[in-house]
Amino acid sequence: MTLDPRRARLWSALGLGPVWSLRGSVDSAVELTRADRIARMDWDALERAVAGCTACELSRTRHRTVFGVGHRAAEWMLVGEAPGAEEDARGEPFVGQAGRLLDNMLDAVGLTRGGTTARSVYIANVLKCRPPGNRNPEPGEVALCDPFLKRQIELIKPKIVLVMGRFAAQSLLGTDASIASLRGKVHRIDVAGRSVAVVVTYHPAYLLRNLADKAKSWADLCLAGEVVAAA
Ligand code: URA
Repeated sequence: MTLDPRRARLWSALGLGPVWSLRGSVDSAVELTRADRIARMDWDALERAVAGCTACELSRTRHRTVFGVGHRAAEWMLVGEAPGAEEDARGEPFVGQAGRLLDNMLDAVGLTRGGTTARSVYIANVLKCRPPGNRNPEPGEVALCDPFLKRQIELIKPKIVLVMGRFAAQSLLGTDASIASLRGKVHRIDVAGRSVAVVVTYHPAYLLRNLADKAKSWADLCLAGEVVAAA
């Protein structure tokens, strides 16, 4: 079933809300109006919208939504893939083993997830709900969650977005290129008419299994730091 844009606007104006969860597929005309509504939300509204989101099947299996943590005017924004089991239980991103490595990496370059200083980061994920069994996110789930992340980026206005891991990098940059080919350069994405710098690095969970690549992620953090310093 497809809706023409006029009917979709009418549907939205009548406050009838999302219909895609009933059909299990995304109707792009309806999705546009939902994205428009999310694009106008302030922090409180956005947080409530994520907490109450039932747009996809992940809302049935999650325990908690994982909105994001940190300084809401951070220069550095870090983006991972999706909550794991511990994040799903606690409602905070990167609190498991990978999160502890991430905190150590941040510490090494003088950054922290706490506080509201210029060294305080913001951390979020592409998906706000845990895929069961940590399976890969599905394209429909990413499409429905994307407006939340884009609004977070728009509100924070970071000088750099550091994307961690192949999945997050490919989602945010809209590419299927390998992480090896995406690392080592500064990408640009358009978020609500503003050009935002993006640097790609390995996911901390990958680094736990591939210690030798830690040196490369150090280089990525240094590159991101150069972007921030030059901004
Ligand atoms: N992995 C992610 O990508 N995000 C988390 O929040 C935790 C693990």
